[in-house]
Amino acid sequence: SEKVFRYLSQFTEWRHYQHRVRAFVDGKFVPFPINLDTINMLYGTAWDSFEVKEFLKRVAPSVDRVRNSRDVIVSKVGEELYEKFFKNYTYKQWGRYPEELDPSVCGRIPVRCNRDDRYFTDRYQGIPKHGYTRMIERMLGNPNISLWLGIDFREVRDSLSYEHLIFTGPIDEFFDHAYGPLPYRSLRFDVEVLEEVCCQDVATINYPNDYDFTRVTEMKHLTGQEHRRTVLVYEYPSAHGEPYYPVPSRESQALYRKYEALADTLPNVHFIGRLGTYRYYNMDQVVAQALQFFESTLATA
Ligand code: UDP
Repeated sequence: SEKVFRYLSQFTEWRHYQHRVRAFVDGKFVPFPINLDTINMLYGTAWDSFEVKEFLKRVAPSVDRVRNSRDVIVSKVGEELYEKFFKNYTYKQWGRYPEELDPSVCGRIPVRCNRDDRYFTDRYQGIPKHGYTRMIERMLGNPNISLWLGIDFREVRDSLSYEHLIFTGPIDEFFDHAYGPLPYRSLRFDVEVLEEVCCQDVATINYPNDYDFTRVTEMKHLTGQEHRRTVLVYEYPSAHGEPYYPVPSRESQALYRKYEALADTLPNVHFIGRLGTYRYYNMDQVVAQALQFFESTLATA
């Protein structure tokens, strides 16, 4: 989004970076999202875009109604590729099979009949040149902002006076879990330092069917750092720990709706962000949501 990019550009310069991912499937490192080369590498074929499209049409059953994340993938690439790339990765990540998740979860991932192997095709892509910490520090540098760290909101909520309270933590926590806890997924990050300059061709390798971790990221691809050693980060999904992901399933949405109804009874309290609105948003979408909230609610107040 040009708007989001421009807004954030007040606080950071950018390193031009486009993310690339491979998946380790059948003993091979193949491009992910699935594209023309992925299919040719897996099946030992030399198909062009047209032939790949024909192949996908043959293997993908037509699905009347896409009800979940399994339907969304099987209807594009068929059962076999679904099982190789999505079924077990999703189970590791969410503790649920794609049948139990909203179509939007696996629907985030495109399928391509061309050779584009970028993870994202957005027009504006980049990494904050001096890191996310520096970018956030510059936002917080505004003299109208005061920062209290190490304080639980529940300790101070009764002593605060406000016209508008904007809460970006978990919405169920705000209401002391009145209807029971919403499910979240967390990650444990294990860091490994290797005495090598570089060990992966691309930033991230996904492991849908092997190991307990979902993916391994070699950080220097993202930062552009040059160093004789390299740092790998392994992601182990977990139901416990700091909440990173809301779980887009029918039951959790139904529970969220109950919290949302409670939130609607508090007109001066506003919930935004991934945890406040229980939505699986990317960073850029969260920034867009915050700007939209500001324009619609605060700027006119
Ligand atoms: N996914 C998958 N296999 C992969 C990559 C992704 O099955 O190799 C599914 C999985 O359910 C994952 C979702 O697609 O949670 C979204 O993937 P993305 O990489 O966008 O997840 P994030 O970076 O937000 O963790």
